[in-house]
Amino acid sequence: QAVADKIAAGEVAERPSAVVKELVENAIDAGADRIQVEIRKGGVEYIRVADNGCGIPAGQVETAFLRHATSKLSQIDDLYRISTMGFRGEALASICAVAEVEVITKTPEEEEGVYLRLKHGISEEKSEIACGTGTSMMVENLFANVPARMKFLKKDSTEAGYVADVLGRIALSRPKIAFSYTCDGKEIFTTTGDGKLASVILKIYGLDHAKALLPVDYTESGIHISGVVGKPELARGNRTRQTLFVNGRYVKNHVIAKVVEEAFRNNMMVGKFPFFVISVDLPAELVDVNVHPAKTEVKFANEKQLYDIAYHAVRNAIGAGEK
Ligand code: ADP
Ligand code: MG
Repeated sequence: QAVADKIAAGEVAERPSAVVKELVENAIDAGADRIQVEIRKGGVEYIRVADNGCGIPAGQVETAFLRHATSKLSQIDDLYRISTMGFRGEALASICAVAEVEVITKTPEEEEGVYLRLKHGISEEKSEIACGTGTSMMVENLFANVPARMKFLKKDSTEAGYVADVLGRIALSRPKIAFSYTCDGKEIFTTTGDGKLASVILKIYGLDHAKALLPVDYTESGIHISGVVGKPELARGNRTRQTLFVNGRYVKNHVIAKVVEEAFRNNMMVGKFPFFVISVDLPAELVDVNVHPAKTEVKFANEKQLYDIAYHAVRNAIGAGEK
């Protein structure tokens, strides 16, 4: 049985922000250090993700759009040692099935780049093109051929907000990559790629590290907890400013959010939720990122231990801030 068949396939291209997420993760996997994202009309009309990564070899451009044509996964074992963001080989196939896609790509070894246009999964035009190294993916008229999906989308400004949210979190997870996000011709944010989490937080949330944030940095039993928590006065009535990464991947884990909140219990009003951007780095065997097809839910092997360590990490940060 093929490895790909063992992977539970989920719907990838659920809404514009999901498409952006997949395209940006591909750009990260390609080693890019500059990623530009542009959308129009909530991403339904137009999405463009341009990177300066390794490019796709001319002979492989069409195969990249076939299901399970991933170049990143060879054995089922690899699933538990994933270092790349994508590993199912279905993002491009799913996206191009429900949109018109154009790609311009070039590897450093090639003189000329490739231009390919596909509509609803079928390749319509291919030619050589002069371009720099890297890849640009343009996705137009998303879901035009799936009216049911179209109906389920929210208004453009809401969808654009989801894109900003997804991209902001990816930018927080990759301070060494310079991201830019433009929506309907307006620049929403750019990050510098200087490698500092504080710089990204300043660009995305406008929060000054020295004034507003407490650094978290704690290691126990091979589990490293790092990042920042906001001072109690930054707390809000909702959890939209809470971000968790596990081994570099944005995930949701309500228990960890609760643990951080618990660490703030005596410093914060009831009903207020702390700001945080926290990374948990731990041996791959202790985490299963494959529980959910959208890859945002995680399960841990030794949950109790991890939660204790996270609690200590945040208590230390708060304690240091009080001194
Ligand atoms: P996966 O990321 O799971 O491998 P995708 O469908 O997202 O599957 O992408 C298919 C393949 O296309 C990737 O494995 C990669 O080889 C290639 N690819 C896609 N996007 C890029 C990019 N921006 N730069 C270089 N290669 C890319
Ligand atoms: Mg991918």
